[in-house]
Amino acid sequence: MTAPLDAVIVGAGFAGMYMLHRLRGKGFTARVIEAGQGVGGTWYWNRYPGARCDVESVQYSYQFSPELEQEWEWTERYATQPEILKYANHVADRYDLRRDIQFGTRVTKAQFVEADNGWLVETDKGERIAARFLITAMGCLSSPNTPKIPGLAEFAGPTYHTGNWPHEGVDFTGKTVGVIGTGSSAIQSIPIIARQARHLTVFQRTANYTVPAHNRPLDPAYVREVKAGYREMRRRAKTMPAGIDLRINNVPAVEASEEERRRQYQERWDYGGLGFMASFNDLLLNDEANRTAADFVREKVRGIVKDPKTAEILTPTNIIGCKRLCVDSGYWETFNRPNVTLVDIRDEPIERITPTGARAKGQDYTFDCLVLATGFDAMTGALLKVDIRGRDGVSLRDAWSEGPKTYLGLTVAGFPNFFTITGPGSPSVLTNMLPSIEQHVDWIADCLEALREKGVAVIEPEPEAQEAWAVHNGSVANITLRSTCSSWYVGANIPGKPRVFMPYIGGLPAYIERCEAVVAKGYEGFTFV
Ligand code: FAD
Ligand code: NAP
Repeated sequence: MTAPLDAVIVGAGFAGMYMLHRLRGKGFTARVIEAGQGVGGTWYWNRYPGARCDVESVQYSYQFSPELEQEWEWTERYATQPEILKYANHVADRYDLRRDIQFGTRVTKAQFVEADNGWLVETDKGERIAARFLITAMGCLSSPNTPKIPGLAEFAGPTYHTGNWPHEGVDFTGKTVGVIGTGSSAIQSIPIIARQARHLTVFQRTANYTVPAHNRPLDPAYVREVKAGYREMRRRAKTMPAGIDLRINNVPAVEASEEERRRQYQERWDYGGLGFMASFNDLLLNDEANRTAADFVREKVRGIVKDPKTAEILTPTNIIGCKRLCVDSGYWETFNRPNVTLVDIRDEPIERITPTGARAKGQDYTFDCLVLATGFDAMTGALLKVDIRGRDGVSLRDAWSEGPKTYLGLTVAGFPNFFTITGPGSPSVLTNMLPSIEQHVDWIADCLEALREKGVAVIEPEPEAQEAWAVHNGSVANITLRSTCSSWYVGANIPGKPRVFMPYIGGLPAYIERCEAVVAKGYEGFTFV
């Protein structure tokens, strides 16, 4: 075993890359362990057709370096997966990150060793790496969910998961294809697969809400304007609950006239993107308000989809924005194509996958290729795949058996010198994730520096502080409609997963304020050795 490092960072997505850069800048030694063969995380794995960001590219980017901001040119309003991956690779080159990243290696176990005040990390290559700090940058949406549908292993053709797509791409030309799922990944890929394939069969369990992206190439004049005002845009974004600089109409829908509501919804529909949910300030707080937005979108579905029966199946019935809103390019229009069949499996799950397709509601559907757009074991999936053990050998799996609990989404009681970037209990997936990642990384790097200055060997959150944060998380979640539906936010997509609203829904500004206050009060809620 080599001399202990200051930190092992797990994952080389945007979080792990920036964590490495920041620690190096402060003179710490660190190694990143990454399961993939390259950087980029989400954008390394999710190479399905149509994959792109749904936060505008100029905002879905790092802000730690004004030089990087100025030199990088985004070409589309919503960048494609290849362009975002190219950006991640550019950052890795620019800051010479690769020499401290070990690719093609998975962390399998990590144990806090009390005698050493540090961690012993084990990998699938049989290595044991000692480090004072363990920092996970393993991603909130990085553990693909393959549902246990009977017969899945017997399918004779190729099966692809959107979250682990072949690097060489897949050509569906002339093929018949089955897609299971209608979440964001499906909604982005279905229109493209339908254009390629001879026939596409979509299996839908829950009809989903989506708003048009109105994606387009970026006008160079607009890019110049953004670059000139980048600092101000980033500052404004930090004052917004989702960390995205967008126009929030700060009035309740229930107090607006029917005409004003229509005007707002139509204007935002025409503009495109996630700003639709900012049409009014009570859409996620009040059922009646939510219904006005949901009805507007439902009407759109019925207007776009020509076959009334298909339109009815596609019309969402639940709360809009409760599951994450999708952003699409021609999704509903796709169901007007003669080569697309929609199968409603709301009331009866797929009976089984057969060697030649699927059997649902007593009917056989045949296809050559199967696409699982079935999402992720979100927020805790990647963390709990690793055997992480804190004080007294207690495992994180046991500590979180009733759902994850953290202090600030950053640290876990009983797990000293352990930090989770965008862990459960942080705003993470409810925000533009790049600024949220940067805020976490900066907080952790500053914390490590403070510990070094104070000569502190071990930091650990107090169980009471963690409990209070969990209670606060639960109480803010209960105020919103978002905690009411069976989404991946509450773990409902994974059978047996404890139902806890995992991300912090109090908004990015309140969260940043809290993190800063904790530091200002001498790391309130933490104990030191
Ligand atoms: P990831 O990018 O998930 O990286 C985690 C890395 O950790 C992975 O490379 C993984 O291989 C590695 N890893 C995990 N476990 C281990 C282990 N045990 N050992 C070694 N390595 C391990 N967010 C937005 O804000 N806007 C968007 O538009 C947006 N679009 C998205 C589109 C898709 C298709 C998906 C799936 C997510 C999207 N997200 C979006 C969320 C996205 O995950 C984040 O924006 C961001 O990329 C996360 O970066 P990360 O570094 O935290 O995690
Ligand atoms: P998802 O939102 O969890 O969607 C998974 C889909 O698969 C759902 O329609 C789900 O149905 C269905 N499903 C799961 N198990 C099933 C089963 N056994 N039988 C039938 N259907 C099943 O996953 P995702 O689409 O990959 O998106 C996950 C998140 O990643 C998004 O919410 C977003 O945060 C991010 N993302 C963003 C973008 C973007 O636009 N930038 C693109 C992709 C992903 P139910 O709804 O009934 O559970």
